[in-house]
Amino acid sequence: PKYVYEFTEGNKDLKDLLGGKGANLAEMTNLGLPVPPGFTITTEACQHYLEHGEVPDGMNAEIDEKLAALETQMGKRLGQPDNPLLVSVRSGAKFSMPGMMETVLNIGLNDESVHGLAKQSGDERFAWDSYRRLIQMFGKTVQDIPGELFDDAIEAVKHKRGISSDLELRAEDYKELVQTFKDIVLEKTERDFPADPREQMQLAIKAVFDSWNAPRAVLYRRQERIPTDLGTAVNVCSMVFGNMGMDSGTGVAFTRDPASGQQGIYGDYLQNAQGEDVVDGSRNTVPLADMERIDPKSYGELIAIMEKLENHYRDLCDIEFTVERGKLWMLQTRVGKRTAAAAFRIADQLLDQELITLDEAVTRVTGDQLAQLMFPRFDETAPRHRLGRGMNASPGAAVGKAVFDSYTAIKWSRSGEDVILCRRETNPDDLDGMIAASGILTSRGGKTSHAAVVARGMGKTCVCGAEELDIDTKNRRLVAPSGKVIEEGDVISIDGTSGEVFLGEVPVVSSPVVRYFEGEIDPASDQADDLVRAVDRIMHYVDAARRLYVRANADTPEDAQRARRMGAQGIGLCRTEHMFLGDRRSLVERLILADTEKEQHEALAALLPLQREDFVGIFDAMDGLPVTVRLLDPPLHEFLPDVTELSVRVAVAESRGEKHENDLRLLQAVHRLHEQNPMLGLRGVRLGLVVPGLFTMQVRAIAQAAAERIQAGGRPRPEIMIPLVGTVQELEIIRAESLEVLREVGEQYGVELDFPIGTMIELPRAALTAGQIAENAEFFSFGTNDLTQTVWGFSRDDVEASFFSAYLEKGVFGISPFESLDIAGVGRLIKIAVEEGRAARPDIKLGICGEHGGDPASVRFFHSAGLDYVSCSPFRVPVARLEAGRAAA
Ligand code: PEP
Ligand code: MG
Repeated sequence: PKYVYEFTEGNKDLKDLLGGKGANLAEMTNLGLPVPPGFTITTEACQHYLEHGEVPDGMNAEIDEKLAALETQMGKRLGQPDNPLLVSVRSGAKFSMPGMMETVLNIGLNDESVHGLAKQSGDERFAWDSYRRLIQMFGKTVQDIPGELFDDAIEAVKHKRGISSDLELRAEDYKELVQTFKDIVLEKTERDFPADPREQMQLAIKAVFDSWNAPRAVLYRRQERIPTDLGTAVNVCSMVFGNMGMDSGTGVAFTRDPASGQQGIYGDYLQNAQGEDVVDGSRNTVPLADMERIDPKSYGELIAIMEKLENHYRDLCDIEFTVERGKLWMLQTRVGKRTAAAAFRIADQLLDQELITLDEAVTRVTGDQLAQLMFPRFDETAPRHRLGRGMNASPGAAVGKAVFDSYTAIKWSRSGEDVILCRRETNPDDLDGMIAASGILTSRGGKTSHAAVVARGMGKTCVCGAEELDIDTKNRRLVAPSGKVIEEGDVISIDGTSGEVFLGEVPVVSSPVVRYFEGEIDPASDQADDLVRAVDRIMHYVDAARRLYVRANADTPEDAQRARRMGAQGIGLCRTEHMFLGDRRSLVERLILADTEKEQHEALAALLPLQREDFVGIFDAMDGLPVTVRLLDPPLHEFLPDVTELSVRVAVAESRGEKHENDLRLLQAVHRLHEQNPMLGLRGVRLGLVVPGLFTMQVRAIAQAAAERIQAGGRPRPEIMIPLVGTVQELEIIRAESLEVLREVGEQYGVELDFPIGTMIELPRAALTAGQIAENAEFFSFGTNDLTQTVWGFSRDDVEASFFSAYLEKGVFGISPFESLDIAGVGRLIKIAVEEGRAARPDIKLGICGEHGGDPASVRFFHSAGLDYVSCSPFRVPVARLEAGRAAA
């Protein structure tokens, strides 16, 4: 194969082979934009190197050949002593990845060619500055020498000279630094800094290859499920210099504002500087618009190129560029990252400009982004005092008292305080504190740090890596760059969507997007801003495009109404268990304690009218739409009092010689019903089979409620669902009893009650025998919470607080299988059940009602698995609608 491509040979669609950076450099070259010439070494070369420990045969010869061509084109040789060609070596994988080596600039400099560069540029200071940059970057990234050693050496020279800015360093100072840096390299690597330019290049290329397996890159890939064998490409590009005087400079530009999506001129420019000066923040950039005044010619050219790029890529592009003595060069472009709001606005604008179609527009926004837009946010009109900023690790707006250790977080939150847990970084010992806190703030670590990963997993607001904040856990305080000190107990507000940290309580407002979904904002009115209009336009499209129906999990009339406003097309799961709590607890106790059939009967008869009223309200709220009512699921003992409390009560009564017969019976029942493993115990259909009359009472309540609604002119559409079925026989018994009740009640009321009876599929055995089960079920609803629990053998109530943080940190999974469906395992069972269920009963209705029904990636899977509907919490309904539409588009 061919391992090296000139920029003129590639294009933007070759990202697999040339990496993102290389493919886009080639694309820009082909568009006729001013890209410094160069070539890209393919990911295949990297794959070979990673597999065999050596570069593939022929790669070096190809590099020599392309280098020779580059030298001819540029009219100078790499490192030529009197007139050197210098190159940069940059990594460029298909996906950008934290932890990978980025860039080595100025390759080709050595003790001789530095003089050539001085002559060529007429600037000795520049030449020596460039040389020390090479040794510094090469030392850090290729030779793994700690960067502080170089930084400290620079500081030492500045200190000696009594100056504070790098700009005041002279050629002599840089000469001295070059020597110091070379000494550092010698000491740390036990050999001289390599003077041979081709060797410099070769080592840099290998270092890029090796960085594919840097620990942070490995972890990131595991968490993001990026295949480990893709490898990275390497770009070798002739150098252009932004630090050749005030008519030179470097900058970044965006074709639209990546934060808001608004059109305009966005970016930063820094005169007389090279790329890393912009990033390291040691000098202040100016807004890109100021460049118009500084260098009108290059500015005009840049603006024209930005327009060209945007029209070409038909999307927001971000750009890195350099001006060398008045000549503009493009160093990089890519379709830029953006906030959730910007994504919707940009899609809408591009539709208006007719640059994209609606089909494409829905590929530009995601369910995750819509979910982000629905979080409550800080009131932008409220006055606020910003303390600092970190990374937006997990979205949301959290307000609370600053605490600096987990113990205090737990203690204070128990007494009802909202707290923000502030740590330098978190570790598994902080887990309980993180759970107790309203939000998490760290000063160290990136988006894959423990704090960030765990917070995202818990859906908790988190700002991480706020390095400008000095979090001093020992003294329990935090110091902002302004000098402002936050002591333990002072209130702060953190914005996990923007990464900002504020002093005091910033008021929180509900999102306008939620108010739109709730019907409070009419998208056609001037109350609606462009974001709401963009969301509205996309939602109309996805609703028409999707095949999946979206229902909600709701068990009160209020929730049902809310779900309906959010666009739910029915209820996919009405859990009846909460209906047995509160005042009704004593009735349940009576049922459990009943010794005789008569007592049992009475207890059930007392519950019946209450249940009936519950269902009347829900059927009314969902009139005309299906409502899947699930019969009682959890273990009975959950309705009984706590064993310790009860034991104490009994003991106290005994010691006082008081009457306590009832409590004693209760206590005996609690003991009798106690299970080591209640999740695998007497629950679901097993209850229905063991407690006589319980399920038939519920079915009767459903039937009577429906009959009442019919008589009142309504259109109730209940569906009766049996939970935790493992074998068809269980279902057969309950089904026969239920049909009998429906018939009876129908006769009593003189109405026809023909409602589907179906089951949840939430045990592996149910999935594996779906064909048999389908003979007695008119519908299946996958209970992916329990199915995940039973397929993995993970206790759904315990794992997130016990070992999941370790699993996430080690990258066993990037996201909990309770959050996003495990497609390979749980998904496979679902596919089997779908296939065999449909084979046995072609018109069977198939849905899913576990938490995964509102998770974007899972919704896409349910679409492809051929389900009829997903059901999720009311708040997630819009996300599921969007993602179902995206899956179908
Ligand atoms: C499930 O198990 O996925 C389900 C929806 O039921 P529950 O969460 O109530 O057990
Ligand atoms: Mg379940």
